[in-house]
Amino acid sequence: MIPARIGHKASRQRSGILFLIMLILSIATGCNQSNTSQTTNSPQSPLAQEAASTPLAQSEKTKVVTTFLPIYLFTKAVAGDAADVEILVPPGTEIHEYQATPSNIKAIATANVLVKNGLGLEEFLADTIKNAQNPKLAEIDASKSIKPLNEISPVEKTAKEEKDHNYEHTEGNPHIWLDPVLAKQQVTNIRDGLITADPRNQATYEANAATYIKELESLNMEFQQNLQKTPNCTFVTFHDAFPYLAQRYNLKQVAVVEIPEDQLSPADVQNAVNVVKKYKVKALFSEPGVDNKLLTSLSKDLKLTLRPLDSLETGETDPQYYFKAMKTNLQTLETACK
Ligand SMILES: [Zn+2]
Repeated sequence: MIPARIGHKASRQRSGILFLIMLILSIATGCNQSNTSQTTNSPQSPLAQEAASTPLAQSEKTKVVTTFLPIYLFTKAVAGDAADVEILVPPGTEIHEYQATPSNIKAIATANVLVKNGLGLEEFLADTIKNAQNPKLAEIDASKSIKPLNEISPVEKTAKEEKDHNYEHTEGNPHIWLDPVLAKQQVTNIRDGLITADPRNQATYEANAATYIKELESLNMEFQQNLQKTPNCTFVTFHDAFPYLAQRYNLKQVAVVEIPEDQLSPADVQNAVNVVKKYKVKALFSEPGVDNKLLTSLSKDLKLTLRPLDSLETGETDPQYYFKAMKTNLQTLETACK
């Protein structure tokens, strides 16, 4: 077993996979990672506690439940203190493979509004909503009117992969929040949905959204300006989370690498080296907090520095965390792509 959190789809993709490299030329669907440590870094939601301790305020305010961290951050930014905002999937818990808990059902049963990322990311949601039986629940799909990127056929893969290749996200790659321009659309969708559900606070939602959108716009400018210097920077990742970011800023996510459970064979390493050479790969990205010996040794074999790139599926619950993490990502990209 791999000791650190490295990503997604462990249960489905693990069996039989020793090592696979899949080239996806900027675009891919789904998540090709494994994750064995779902409890890493998973504090009790402070938001749930907060809500529980203020029953009076809660009863007066619109209750909004959000699915996972980026959607919570955007919703909280728009709602401010005008609504009570909760998160269903605590930061640090795997979103792609998430199983709903009884308290999730309870939260949805008593909520006025539910906000999701959409694009098939929240697979647990359909049954959970059904079980919650809340006819007054308004749903906001934050990916509304965003055109998803879909899979392009892998151009290179190991023999093993064919059998195990398992794309479940038929609705496209869900990681839209990692592109600040699409994040802006998500915030707009959330704003409009909150206004419809709770028109009393329209002015607050509009003002808060405008402030956050301004920050997203300047973040976008910063990405544009700083990454202009390194066009077509090619990178390999262990989490298929960055095709939108790559497309927006003229980078190339060329490969998603699935690492093995046990050890790399010399053939695996040679395969990876060939791919890195063929596509002139400049950067190899892991995720923050991941300390994995296999990744480290692979990066040595590839003569590439392994750096963390944050998919924001886990982190702090302050809406400003989005900017903090994305600016760190920008610095990482600049350094790696030099
Ligand atoms: Zn993901």
